[in-house]
Amino acid sequence: MEYKEALYYEILPSGKIHCLLCPQSCVIEQGRLGFCRVRKNIQRKLYTLIYGQAASISLDSIEKKPLYHYHPGEYILSVGTKGCNFSCPFCQNWSISQDDSAQTETITSHQLVEKAKELDSFGIAYTYNEPFIWYEFVLETAELAKSVGLENVLVTNGYVNLKPLEEILPFIHAMNIDLKSIDEEFYRKVCNGRLNPVLEVIKRSHKACHIELTNLIIPNLNDSSDSLQKLVDWIYDNLGSDVPLHFSRYFPNYKLDIPPTPVDTLKKAEQIARKKLKFVYLGNVR
Ligand code: SF4
Repeated sequence: MEYKEALYYEILPSGKIHCLLCPQSCVIEQGRLGFCRVRKNIQRKLYTLIYGQAASISLDSIEKKPLYHYHPGEYILSVGTKGCNFSCPFCQNWSISQDDSAQTETITSHQLVEKAKELDSFGIAYTYNEPFIWYEFVLETAELAKSVGLENVLVTNGYVNLKPLEEILPFIHAMNIDLKSIDEEFYRKVCNGRLNPVLEVIKRSHKACHIELTNLIIPNLNDSSDSLQKLVDWIYDNLGSDVPLHFSRYFPNYKLDIPPTPVDTLKKAEQIARKKLKFVYLGNVR
């Protein structure tokens, strides 16, 4: 298979490659992969291994993303590939985000746009795994989709550098961004990432398109009243009271097998958030 050269990298004097797409800021030796396992240094050039490779394509309700204040009741063509620039042990989509043997099928931007039109979808959602590590394909497809009147949605962990974010934002209509915790240590120890870049992406995206936020509440990891209060305070202070917040219930998955989040914990979070935010929802609760 011929790979596509990646955007956003520099060659270091040592011949190693410094990837500039996301804050992992990987320095990649010849023949090696970045943290996301889908970008490779081949002979002093960085290639994306997943350009035009889809692991999953499906027509989903927009509420499944979740987006509740954007095209309510409508369905959207949803597509994702494999790999991720985080390594959360509770990942709900680990079979494509963390398993390198996940199967993919080849698809072009044009085919995806035609499929969306055939299915009468109002747009395309880039979801299931982290869309920013699929950057080259998502950018190209989003540009084409917008040119024919379709809308583009990103369901993302918000872990991307601001320069590539600026390049893609003009083509993006809505985003659901995970705010996994307001605790730097949670991001570092649990996700292998950092909090501040995510907060910057949320603030910038909020100025450019419709955004909703998701917080997966996990027992003993990010469920204290203090931490939930800080998270709500940050949203209120930086985005105001109108951004919808989805608290989602954790269930055991991938490497984490602690019991599911008690529904009472979600209700406590809802109570805290409703004092400041207008739109608070609970997800994964029957
Ligand atoms: S996109 Fe992948 S290779 Fe590039 S910095 Fe992020 S994790 Fe590393």
